[in-house]
Amino acid sequence: MADSLREKIAHTLQVEKENIVLSSGADELISCVLKLLEGETVIISSPTFGMYRVFAALEGLPLLDVPLDKNFRLQKVENFAENVRAIFVCSPNNPTGNIQEREKIIHILDTGAPVILDEAYIEFAKESCIDLVWEYDNLVILRTFSKACGLAGVRVGYAVAQKEVCTYVKRIQCPFNLNILSAKAAEIMLDHYEVVEQNIEFVIKERGRIKREFRQAFPSEANFLLIDANAYEFFLRKGIVVKQLGGSLKGMIRVTVGRKEENDQFISALKEFLEE
Ligand code: PMP
Repeated sequence: MADSLREKIAHTLQVEKENIVLSSGADELISCVLKLLEGETVIISSPTFGMYRVFAALEGLPLLDVPLDKNFRLQKVENFAENVRAIFVCSPNNPTGNIQEREKIIHILDTGAPVILDEAYIEFAKESCIDLVWEYDNLVILRTFSKACGLAGVRVGYAVAQKEVCTYVKRIQCPFNLNILSAKAAEIMLDHYEVVEQNIEFVIKERGRIKREFRQAFPSEANFLLIDANAYEFFLRKGIVVKQLGGSLKGMIRVTVGRKEENDQFISALKEFLEE
């Protein structure tokens, strides 16, 4: 069963099934890769997905944060690449929504350090770096069925990497980590990918509509928008749940693009908040 899912993913991405490692959500792979690799420090670029920090801490690894610049772009991470266990690059980045420039990712890969490129939201973006897998054996790309396919609760993720890298990752995974019901659900999604594509198209359109309404909204290539408005409590009182951000994004919110009526409701509530 899982083998046929691997084959279908491989076919969709035009790679071979040996280039794919399935997992119980992309989170599992973050943890696996950190266990597998040698080297000391883990590099992240904040603000970014919180689980890199959590899994590095669970492994007892020192963390080096090379923060994104004011436009949420990667700084010269390559300058710190010596003796690192993993460099995490999240593109599109959660929670800022932007993608990272391909050239910058290539500079980091050229150091030879292991790079985990998290493309969890890539279906909502213009361009993936998946082709770089052929060129770089230090690149592991993470993908998931949790976002564009809407199967977060089903827990299916996968890595795309060179065959040898995949063999190593598989060696340290628990056997039968992916249950057959989840594998089947993911397969059904791929069999009906036109439905997923319609949803992606809808999200991109609605994302554009929300973005155009508010100069406080940052450009996004994901299924959410980062908005510079301290409106978490205000929304909560209206029964709208958005994500309240902290750290360098304190006072901002992240809103996921929803159904049309939900987006309408969000837009009018935010207008009301900004007018107050
Ligand atoms: N990477 C990013 C950037 C995410 O936002 C998430 C989910 N929030 C994951 C990975 C984990 O996805 P999964 O549900 O497949 O474990």
